[in-house]
Amino acid sequence: MVLELTFVVLKPHVVKVPSISKEIKNIIIRNGFLVIRSKEKILNPNDLQMFYGEHKNKFFYNRLISFMSSGPIEAYVLARENAIHKWRELMGPTRVFEAQFSAPDTIRGKFGLTDTRNATHGSDSTESARREMSILFPDFDPIQWLKTNENHFRGDG
Ligand code: GDP
Ligand code: MG
Repeated sequence: MVLELTFVVLKPHVVKVPSISKEIKNIIIRNGFLVIRSKEKILNPNDLQMFYGEHKNKFFYNRLISFMSSGPIEAYVLARENAIHKWRELMGPTRVFEAQFSAPDTIRGKFGLTDTRNATHGSDSTESARREMSILFPDFDPIQWLKTNENHFRGDG
């Protein structure tokens, strides 16, 4: 079994409601993810410009940055077999209308409010995961962590 790391964020409107953030944390555990690092933080626009750099010219960019810096987020480094794909599957589609319509049991289908406030973030590739982790957990070395832990995975997903 090959361990993979992904980076997850609970967005501010989720962190504000303890019953919802608890339910999402239960989803994390029930699906066999190991929580490797976690942190609650208020992100500043600088962190967010690095984090969402790929969306710089999109119409929703300013809205996204101001929402994501509007209150504490919770950031997680999670490990699992096929972690990136599995988390994105659990999260559901980016757009909330699509999530509610075609995937109502996903995290975004259940807890998304708008396309901006769509409950959670999940990395879309190994490269994005590494870049995103380095912003929130600058002391964490994902390559070294995987090297050290590759033989110790006992979760069954
Ligand atoms: P993700 O990887 O599924 O989170 O989606 P993207 O990487 O494409 O976009 C990053 C974030 O920008 C999303 O999670 C949304 O919060 C926001 N976003 C993406 N597309 C739209 C859009 O069409 N409208 C609005 N308002 N926000 C969007
Ligand atoms: Mg993305």
